[in-house]
Amino acid sequence: VYEDGGPVGSCQHCDMSVFSFHPVKPITTAEGGAVTTNDSELARRLQILRNHGIERDPARFVDQADDEAGPWQHQQQALGFNYRMTDIQAALGLAQLDKLDAMLARRRQIAAYYDARLGNLENIVLPQSELAARARSGLHLYLLHIDFAALGITRPEAMTQLRDRGIGTQVHYIPVHRQPFHRDRIAGTPGDFPVSEQYYRGALSIPFFPSMTDHEVEFTVAAIKDLVQ
Ligand SMILES: *Cc1c(COP(=O)(O)O)cnc(C)c1O
Repeated sequence: VYEDGGPVGSCQHCDMSVFSFHPVKPITTAEGGAVTTNDSELARRLQILRNHGIERDPARFVDQADDEAGPWQHQQQALGFNYRMTDIQAALGLAQLDKLDAMLARRRQIAAYYDARLGNLENIVLPQSELAARARSGLHLYLLHIDFAALGITRPEAMTQLRDRGIGTQVHYIPVHRQPFHRDRIAGTPGDFPVSEQYYRGALSIPFFPSMTDHEVEFTVAAIKDLVQ
């Protein structure tokens, strides 16, 4: 939800919004995503690009005198792609959409619990724990920022230690400017993005999904406490 109240995807501040429905996201269609827009011309353009650049509406055909009118007619008007979502994926997505509010409510519960239990530990900062921000967030991930240097342990060591207790962790995300594709296109020097670098050094995402049981959440808290104490 935006600061002024409207939902993300309403496009009140943009022309288009893009959603990913990858399995790690709040709702999934196994793969794929969606674009929302209030601009009917952009919507039409997206529909055409999704389907090999093909226009099926005769009213929008480019005039070609020798074209025989008929129900099979279509025109490739652009070089598009096959970005069609299958009906099966769409059915999954609709079922997920029905559960979105309940799943988000459970994410809020877990986030509040993590905030309360992990918020006062030394060498951990919860970068997203400001209450107003939590309330507006889709709560996709739960991030810790850990001062690994102060703990005298490396991040890979910490991840292994947690892994050995059955707890999967991940790093979200490697800053874009460190990725070779982007690095080669950014006119800059190492050290130009100190805030990203500082964030990245301590970032660790811990298990966070709506079907986690209270026991699993508490088990994770205990393991994080053992790690930092
Ligand atoms: C999910 C995600 C992506 C990838 O989404 P796609 O469905 O592969 O387009 C990229 N960046 C961020 C930050 C994400 O969270």
